Amino acid sequence: MSQDYEHIETKLIHSGEPLPHIEGAVVVPIFQSSTYESGGGEARWDDIKYMRLGNTPNHKALQDKLAAIENAEAALVSASGMAAITASLLTCLSCGDHLLVQDNLYGGTFGFVTKDLPQYGVSTDFFDAGDPDSWEAKLKPNTRVIYVETISNPLLKVGALNQVAEFARKHGLVSMIDNTFASPLYFRPIEHGFDISLHSATKYLNGHSDVVAGVVIGSAELVDRIHQKQNRLGGSLDANSCFLMQRGLKTLALRVRQQNENALALAEFLEGHHRIEKVFYPGLPSHPDYERAKKLLEGYGGMVSFVMAAEAGIKTVKNVLNKLQLPIKAPSLGGVESLITIPAESSHRGLSAEELERAGIPETLVRVSVGIEAVEDLIEDFRSALE
Ligand SMILES: *Cc1c(COP(=O)(O)O)cnc(C)c1O
Repeated sequence: MSQDYEHIETKLIHSGEPLPHIEGAVVVPIFQSSTYESGGGEARWDDIKYMRLGNTPNHKALQDKLAAIENAEAALVSASGMAAITASLLTCLSCGDHLLVQDNLYGGTFGFVTKDLPQYGVSTDFFDAGDPDSWEAKLKPNTRVIYVETISNPLLKVGALNQVAEFARKHGLVSMIDNTFASPLYFRPIEHGFDISLHSATKYLNGHSDVVAGVVIGSAELVDRIHQKQNRLGGSLDANSCFLMQRGLKTLALRVRQQNENALALAEFLEGHHRIEKVFYPGLPSHPDYERAKKLLEGYGGMVSFVMAAEAGIKTVKNVLNKLQLPIKAPSLGGVESLITIPAESSHRGLSAEELERAGIPETLVRVSVGIEAVEDLIEDFRSALE
């Protein structure tokens, strides 16, 4: 790792950058080479430079930067958020083990723990991350991993995260947290005692909706084990995507701060609008987890969900969405452009009406990934679409 800097804004620019600069290049060039001349000697297989092994100059620079910005020993990049999540879970769980995951999981993760892990003899139970008193009862002698998300999708709930890390330490579990929605700007899990922080870098870390990638962050020992598993599973990131993520990362602080500011202003506007029944944003005092979010997070992120007033059926909601000029109707999140989606028809499409109800997700809930457009333009767009 290059010199350590105090502030994340400086780390985003300078940490992990190779020194001296390669051929004097201010930016790490793309090393579009699948394999590298061997240096000879006693290197282990994983030390041989080969793109699948995630150890080219592009991987190294990026991973060092990622570790630095979350104040951790090590980081690993993956071909997608799901590649990072699955490699991490498969590293820490064996046949016969038990996993605790928070309810309201990201759809892909939910699918993996309910459809794939049982195939390998791993059982899973769900728990309410906001209710620490209920956790002990869910524990089994074979529980190995506890898994949460910093801010949940799409209701933007924030669990008792410090207690999750404490609970894991007390019971000898590996604690994992999907930190995608908060980004390292607003929450750095390792500082809160988590073992593993995971990201879909597709979202805020890259920030420009042009890369699919994932990140694992944690101790050198644990990240190395996950890295070796990933080398065998094969979900490595290519050099070109490393380059794009490295470029995107440099403006993370500027982007996410603006998204946070815009999201708060939009959430406040929507909350005051007569056609809106309920707004979900952890930075609004009306959000059930507002107090906890205020203590845990340094910002509330760029995601806002809302439900229109009771008489509005799905047709009216779609009508409003179609009238909007700025937000693009698309799933995913975290890019510089605002995106809008109906979770029941996108991220949560696989859920039945009953399951949606149990998860507390209204069929007409709308989710906005707020971009960095002028907030006046965004608010005006929503005002005229709602009228
Ligand atoms: C998108 C997302 C993922 C999956 O990431 P991919 O890069 O699409 O594989 C995981 N967790 C959260 C919270 C996400 O938003």
